[in-house]
Amino acid sequence: MGRNPRAKKSLGQHFLVDRRVLVRIVRAAEISENDTIVEIGPGRGILTRRLAESAEHVVAVEIDRDLADALTTEFKGRPGVKVICADARESDIEQLVPGNGPYKLVANLPYYSASPIIRRFLGADRKPQRMVVMVQREVAQSMTAGPGKMSLMSVAVQLYGVSRIVCYAPPRAFRPAPKVTSAVVRIDLLPTPAIAFDREEDLFTLLRAGFSAPRKQIRNSLSKGLSVPSEIAEKMLSRSLIDPTRRSATLSLAEWGNLYAEFRSLLPAHGGRAARAGRRRRSRSQDKKHADAKGVR
Ligand code: SAM
Repeated sequence: MGRNPRAKKSLGQHFLVDRRVLVRIVRAAEISENDTIVEIGPGRGILTRRLAESAEHVVAVEIDRDLADALTTEFKGRPGVKVICADARESDIEQLVPGNGPYKLVANLPYYSASPIIRRFLGADRKPQRMVVMVQREVAQSMTAGPGKMSLMSVAVQLYGVSRIVCYAPPRAFRPAPKVTSAVVRIDLLPTPAIAFDREEDLFTLLRAGFSAPRKQIRNSLSKGLSVPSEIAEKMLSRSLIDPTRRSATLSLAEWGNLYAEFRSLLPAHGGRAARAGRRRRSRSQDKKHADAKGVR
């Protein structure tokens, strides 16, 4: 590949150098020979090479033109490997993945955009069957947290999949070394979401409101976040058998499911106004990507 150009920190370029972590990522993905893998941010290709050894198709999406060109040259004559120079936060997932079969997402993600990229793939019509991603440790812990420590990220991930931490990777596992510890997370996508919903947008309006003030009692965060009187928030909660003085971090997915059902049943009278208010507030933001990123933090 010639001399390695200097890593661009603004693009989250911390290249993996620890082969044991590399093996853990590949093993966790459980790749079989006819698999299709999407890799985001192949960088200098340490993971891409391993993936290409085991899978039939690898689609590697790299934002950095220099790195994408170097990998295209390296994999020339390997029809199973396709390198695309694009921003994974914007690329059309339908277009990325060849055919219409299942695929897996395997990636050492850039810290600055890990959350929007994960959220994008989880919310896509064509979701991966499994995700194995390296992210910052705190993000990994949030993705896998249980009731008591739940955040919007926890619910957004566990709504669609079963998640667990595969291993941790210290700063020395990368060059240049980042300031933080990383972790590999595996998410196995569920055949149907863990919460039954008719409109994902309304569910996220409710979730964003619930987590808008995590230190407050949930009746207050819901009332403020949905712009409804506190009696309405309390009514939704009591009908869902949720103590209104609890904090949003303590709710289980099943409880969010019950709360969503009440929110929807109140839509014509109050929730409709609230959901529309939530939608209006978001659409006011010119930068949709930014809003997506905030939505799962
Ligand atoms: N996979 C390589 C490894 O493990 O050594 C590189 C991982 S590095 C943490 C993240 C990579 O993602 C970098 O190569 C960076 O240029 C790329 N990247 C950053 N933002 C991206 C984006 N929005 N879309 C696609 N690639 C991105």
